[in-house]
Amino acid sequence: MTDPYQREPREKEISLCPCKSKSSYMDCCMPYHYGIKKPETAEQLMRSRYCAYFFRRVDYLVDTWHPDKRTAGLKNELKENVHEANWKFLNILATSKGQKGDKTGKVEFSADYYVGSEKYTLEECSRFRKHKGSWKYLDDKG
Ligand SMILES: [Zn+2]
Repeated sequence: MTDPYQREPREKEISLCPCKSKSSYMDCCMPYHYGIKKPETAEQLMRSRYCAYFFRRVDYLVDTWHPDKRTAGLKNELKENVHEANWKFLNILATSKGQKGDKTGKVEFSADYYVGSEKYTLEECSRFRKHKGSWKYLDDKG
């Protein structure tokens, strides 16, 4: 599935996944982005969604949003906004549940990004919930 908004990974991004896991993109978030594997933990989903923002993979972001929380305009909003931020760093601060056998999980993280030359830091505690056996992003009210 091609998404016209996304950008292709550069060489250094392939050798080191943008989610800062220290693995290659191939061994980390790529199999999720290409639908080869599904994240087993909430943290894996969180990382792959950060990485999807990084590569501007709108379809993946929509797909991994919990259906209960997807708004009608979500996809268009993402298409319009996904280019604004250039993501630089992800730091996972804490996780709670979100393991293979769980149905819910929380991931607390901070992420740095630039809009133009201005640096911002997003701090969030995301909640995740399984839907039909797959982890989905619920909201940031954790
Ligand atoms: Zn990754």
